[in-house]
Amino acid sequence: MSDNASRKILVLGGSRGIGAALVRRFAGAGDHVVFSYAGSADAAAALAAETGARAVRVDSADRDALVAAVAAEGPVDVLLVNAGTLALGDPLTLDADAVDHMIDVNVRAPYHAAVEAARTMPGDGRILVIGSTNGDRMPFAGGAAYAMTKSAIQGMVRGLARDLGGRGITVNAIQPGPTDTDMNPASGPMAETMHGFMAIKRHVHASEIADYAAFLASPSAAMITGSMQTIDGGFGA
Ligand code: NDP
Repeated sequence: MSDNASRKILVLGGSRGIGAALVRRFAGAGDHVVFSYAGSADAAAALAAETGARAVRVDSADRDALVAAVAAEGPVDVLLVNAGTLALGDPLTLDADAVDHMIDVNVRAPYHAAVEAARTMPGDGRILVIGSTNGDRMPFAGGAAYAMTKSAIQGMVRGLARDLGGRGITVNAIQPGPTDTDMNPASGPMAETMHGFMAIKRHVHASEIADYAAFLASPSAAMITGSMQTIDGGFGA
């Protein structure tokens, strides 16, 4: 993988938040970026116009559509699986369908997308999945199912790193802590509680996640694989 060559990058869930920061970062570096979205058509169109990236509507919860889309975009040099949902609440009353939908998007989709991308990915390719520091630490009530989905990513990353390492493909998770997006606004009602768990008491900026993803996707990170890269201001310390 050359530093200067224009690579094909596929961002799953790129219309808003961390995903949009990933699109901006890679497109800004001259890569050829395609990103998916589900519900935010206007935001996706605006981001495509801003960055020159191409937006495709694909619901990550629809496995057949997702796999077909990944196959159609292949071969990709870098797969960034960012799409995720958050269902928090008392497990005794939390809507079971919302939990299952979260499992579809946060767990099933990353696995099937990564496997499909790997079929045609070149030998120095990169698979990066956005996990969460909650995969390691769940310090408040109501997050069992969400934490479960992010811990599942850890097992997948370790296993796929073994499966694909012989081809020089690296597979890693980035585990953000509280990051300022629609999902978890820095001005939201949970912010103070979140900062209470952190050594550096502010939300992560989505651009900080994107900068680190760019490094992990670079040739310099060729020997980083099967790992969880945590960016959480000490949330899990
Ligand atoms: P946002 O809710 O701000 O954005 C979510 C993005 O994922 C949107 O672009 C959305 O697209 C896309 N998406 C959601 N569901 C689907 C779907 N079914 N199919 C395709 N795309 C989908 O979330 P964040 O940016 O905050 O989160 C991004 C990732 O980072 C998630 O995996 C999340 O779990 C993780 N994370 C976030 C943290 C935070 O504090 N913000 C902390 C730790 C991890 P659309 O709107 O078009 O549907």
